[in-house]
Amino acid sequence: MYEITTDVLIVGSGPAGSACAALLSTYGVKNLLVNQYRWLANTPRAHITNLRTMEVLRDLGQQVEQEAYLHATNEDLMGGTVFCESLTGEEIGRVPSWGLHPLSRAERQLSSPAKMNDLPQTFMEPLLFKTACARGTEARMSTEYLSHTQTDDGVVTLCRDKLSGEEFTVKSKYLVGADGGNSKVAKDAGLPFEGQMGVRGSMNIWFRADLSEFVAHRPAVLYPIMQPGAEVGGIGMGLIRMVRPWNEWLIVWGYDINEPTPVVDHERATTIARQLVGKPDLEIELLGTSTWTVNNMYATRMQNGKVFCMGDAAHRHPPSGGLGSNTSIQDAFNLSWKLAAVINGQAGEALLDTYTVERAPIAKQIVTRANQSIAEFAPLYSALGIDESNDGAVMQANMHARSQSTEAAEKQRMEIRDALAFKRYELDAHGVEMNQRYRSSAAVTDGEAEPEFKRDRELFYQSTTWPGARLPHAWVFDSRGRQHSTLDLAGHGRFALFTGLGGEAWVDAAAKVGEEFGLKIDVHVVGPRQPHADYTGDWSRVREVSDSGCVLVRPDHHVAWRSVKLSDNPQAELRRVLQHVLSK
Ligand SMILES: Cc1cc2nc3c(=O)[nH]c(=O)nc-3n(C[C@H](O)[C@H](O)[C@H](O)COP(=O)(O)OP(=O)(O)OC[C@H]3O[C@@H](n4cnc5c(N)ncnc54)[C@H](O)[C@@H]3O)c2cc1C
Repeated sequence: MYEITTDVLIVGSGPAGSACAALLSTYGVKNLLVNQYRWLANTPRAHITNLRTMEVLRDLGQQVEQEAYLHATNEDLMGGTVFCESLTGEEIGRVPSWGLHPLSRAERQLSSPAKMNDLPQTFMEPLLFKTACARGTEARMSTEYLSHTQTDDGVVTLCRDKLSGEEFTVKSKYLVGADGGNSKVAKDAGLPFEGQMGVRGSMNIWFRADLSEFVAHRPAVLYPIMQPGAEVGGIGMGLIRMVRPWNEWLIVWGYDINEPTPVVDHERATTIARQLVGKPDLEIELLGTSTWTVNNMYATRMQNGKVFCMGDAAHRHPPSGGLGSNTSIQDAFNLSWKLAAVINGQAGEALLDTYTVERAPIAKQIVTRANQSIAEFAPLYSALGIDESNDGAVMQANMHARSQSTEAAEKQRMEIRDALAFKRYELDAHGVEMNQRYRSSAAVTDGEAEPEFKRDRELFYQSTTWPGARLPHAWVFDSRGRQHSTLDLAGHGRFALFTGLGGEAWVDAAAKVGEEFGLKIDVHVVGPRQPHADYTGDWSRVREVSDSGCVLVRPDHHVAWRSVKLSDNPQAELRRVLQHVLSK
């Protein structure tokens, strides 16, 4: 048996593993990625790509971000979620989603330099994987993780080359389990989980058919189909999802988890497609079918010693709200810079403990949110009269009753409107996507209490430089008047410090303290005749410190610390803060 040595071994090349590999390679950390299959995602599962994820791709480089947009369906075509009886049948209502509503679009534009888009997993994975390999990742496909053992100085992992059947070991400083919802790494590491797997049954039917005539005039990614039977299992509704406009689709249809798993052959797939599209003679080119279960489970600890889990390995939930791949990539953004800092000797190993402290609450939050989104279909079914009988004809009659000119029908219409509006928590939850605030030793308090959310924290993003929160986005301008997001001036694997006129002493302090820690801290003095100016005043309005104060930002864009004004001894202050943040 032979042995390979690397710094970080990553198991899994899904969105989590490929993002982690791309980030580590960008930061110059040696890593090896293994995947049990010969290639990447073979079905377009995840697709809604939110602003925070695009900020990670943007951090990987303009080329990576631009390639994502090149392959994605853009935000204008995404968001008019159409609830209907079938694509040819009556429309019940629309929910402006993913920033389509002008107010939501404005809030999103104000919050981020990035754009929402729909990028199927079959495009996202190759992009991240290619970036990783081009920058230094060694990738071995058809290679299966078997087991691991932790030693004093690292992890020894047993793998099998599936082509030759030969087993070999990988000796690494750290092991990352990004091996999906059935994670063996998480199991072997003994991570504690809460919740339940397999709460509802679901099937995917992936097909090609030109449906332009039914949809091109009302563009959306999601067409929820409200028919009798749609409430059984699955994600709380029947769904036709656009994969490519308007000729590639994925149907999600539920089954009763207490019944045997259905066989979805060509005939059954065609029958369901015809029923949901509402075209009895529809011909489809079937690309694939699969069955899967809705899960409701999250790890309460995402690491054990030198082993870390991320993505679905740590949080398992339905696709509602499109949070899976997004959260997986964001897990990677949180852990990768910490691994790099520890491996490069800039941080103590205790920094790695902040991974669980910061990300486990988010795992719980998104698993809960996604499952709640399924439950929140109940008022809509109730208003439509779908849940009151097992008799299809009765349900159909209840649904049609809304078109009468009676008081009861008016009440029904109001209930339907309210129930649809409530789906915003699933379809346009800007706050769920962006409001992550970390509380750990890697974010040092400035003594101020955490700002309270002034509006619904799930629906609305609220910017703050409170330590632990994501750095607010504002455009600042270089000497030629070109705009740069504050997020672009931060990140890229480095700490950044923002100050203004009167805060020049931070520049010198950051250089000296950075040198002590072996770090380069990017310092930005923002003000008139400085490398960046705040012509619109937007940065001054969101930074919550004075010109002479500073905001210190971690490589993952989260605020490490801030000072409202210049302190008496900036060098000592920065040293104290970095010692804390980096567990040095
Ligand atoms: C229908 C559907 C729609 C979805 N829509 C969205 C959406 O719009 N937005 C969103 O964010 N999410 C969505 N998701 C969820 C998303 O697909 C997952 O959350 C995401 O794929 C998780 O990424 P991951 O990298 O953690 O795991 P995975 O993508 O599952 O990748 C796991 C990797 O580990 C490898 N692996 C597993 N075991 C081993 C082993 N023993 N040895 C070696 N390799 C191994 C696999 O080969 C694979 O490469 C959707 C899911 C479904 C089913």
